[in-house]
Amino acid sequence: MPAACATIDLSAIQANAALLCAAARTADVMAVVKADAYGHGAVETARAALQGGARWLGTANIEEALQLRRAGILAPLLCWLNTPGAQWKTAIAARVDLSAADLWAIDEIIEAAAQIGLPARVHLKVDSGLGRGGAPMSAWPVLVEAALKAEADGLLEVVGLWSHLGASDDPRDARSCRQIEVFQSAVYQAERAGICPEVRHLANSTATLLSSKAHFDLVRPGIALYGLWPQVAARPTRLRPAMTLSARLAQVKEVPAGHCVSYGSTYTTTRPTRLGIVPLGYADGVPRHAGNIAPVYIAGQWRPIAGRVCMDQFVIDLGDIDADPGDEVVLYGPGDRGEPTAAHWARLLGTITNELVTGVGPRVARRYR
Ligand SMILES: *Cc1c(COP(=O)(O)O)cnc(C)c1O
Repeated sequence: MPAACATIDLSAIQANAALLCAAARTADVMAVVKADAYGHGAVETARAALQGGARWLGTANIEEALQLRRAGILAPLLCWLNTPGAQWKTAIAARVDLSAADLWAIDEIIEAAAQIGLPARVHLKVDSGLGRGGAPMSAWPVLVEAALKAEADGLLEVVGLWSHLGASDDPRDARSCRQIEVFQSAVYQAERAGICPEVRHLANSTATLLSSKAHFDLVRPGIALYGLWPQVAARPTRLRPAMTLSARLAQVKEVPAGHCVSYGSTYTTTRPTRLGIVPLGYADGVPRHAGNIAPVYIAGQWRPIAGRVCMDQFVIDLGDIDADPGDEVVLYGPGDRGEPTAAHWARLLGTITNELVTGVGPRVARRYR
């Protein structure tokens, strides 16, 4: 039994993927498995999502995409966040689709394609209003022209036109509607100039489930695949959280009243009690400010983290819980056993579930169910 463990329910990921496919109706689903599948394990998650009906996979960078290809996964696969000098040739040879938002990217991609004698599969990205990556609308016509010329030279195939939404909490709000319109006009311009994309795509998790106008040909859910949801209030109830984060007590000891706990003595026992030492710390993705705030689940009860979270460990005040070294402590999970959920932790800590699960570090063993 590992000291600390993230147990991943692959059947939950598969079921969430199937639910997202049903919500996407005629659009295909790209399972977003960047950042080691939001901490869940990229290869295992990708396979479960494909079994659930996803047809595409998405990652941030080329290295993440190549990890999936090395595992023998052949599904269409897009990566969208690369820098000058990236491993373009390896990516093109592995049939990894590349995003381009700038002329320098088109130039580097077609040079690599010419060197290996294989056209690159490219998705052109426009900034429809998020103000993050993507060509600004003013630069879009020039990007489209460069792509068309490269296509005519046989060096590149424009597979997709795409963008990303900003107001992810509510894809039906005015800002998102405006982004959909801007994206539609970018698609129209590109198609009028002669681009024939296989897929046009814009939607993240919330837009997949709440805004069919944003679906186009392909949707790109990430967080919902893991059964989590950016909004606290309105999680679609059929999504099932896939990760349970747990650890085993490393020590249990009796202490008197007035005993200070952990760095900075921010917690003092108020009666004779027992303390449990949990071998998970901020290096493992337990936020440092969870001390004295977030609860853990042990022996059917919630106990608050006592004092500051350290790099490798934190302490809980067991009170009258009769626990032994090796007993399981659950930080968060789907909630079925009565344990806290990642959504509850996120709300208490002023963050989002994405940050919690992606932060679970490499020392934490992943166990698949
Ligand atoms: C992370 C990401 C997604 C998935 O977003 P969620 O809100 O997790 O569904 C989709 N598209 C792009 C470009 C992303 O970076």
